[in-house]
Amino acid sequence: MSNLADEIVVAPDARLKTDCTPIEKIDDSVRVLAEHMLEVMYETDGCGLAAPQVGETVQLVVIDVDYTRNKRNPYVLVNPKVIVADGEERETVEGCLSFPGISVHVSRPSHVVVEAYNLEGDLMRYEAQDNLLAVCLQHEIDHLHGKTMLDHLRPLERVRKMREFEEAKEAGAQPGETGE
Ligand code: ZN
Repeated sequence: MSNLADEIVVAPDARLKTDCTPIEKIDDSVRVLAEHMLEVMYETDGCGLAAPQVGETVQLVVIDVDYTRNKRNPYVLVNPKVIVADGEERETVEGCLSFPGISVHVSRPSHVVVEAYNLEGDLMRYEAQDNLLAVCLQHEIDHLHGKTMLDHLRPLERVRKMREFEEAKEAGAQPGETGE
């Protein structure tokens, strides 16, 4: 059995620190990559995945915040842009497939509007407030700009979490495990 979790780029890795390239043309290679990312995301129980997390430094994100075994509702976002990020800051607990074994408290704006192309080339608009989608959109789009959830922490907390992550990795934590 192939283990799709092995395809996840785990920190530290330069690809997770890269400002990713916009996609110029939505062709078959983009569709194949999106399909692959969805497969990896579902296999690892993630609610979102950004292309650099599978080693491709292009602006592509997949998200599905409410799938079950029988029902999937995937969003594919090509070149997503945060148009609005406002509302009260909310702190939630986030995990990341590229940081197996830890979860961190991250504070983000509670309301977000995102524009992105879908695989048909239509410009789509996503709006979310006070829910997992609002968090997930911001978390994944951060990845396209070389930013991870740890970059939102205060310096001391970041150092502490990096140490916890190194220990979890040493202990064999796999993508999808959040340590809580
Ligand atoms: Zn992540």
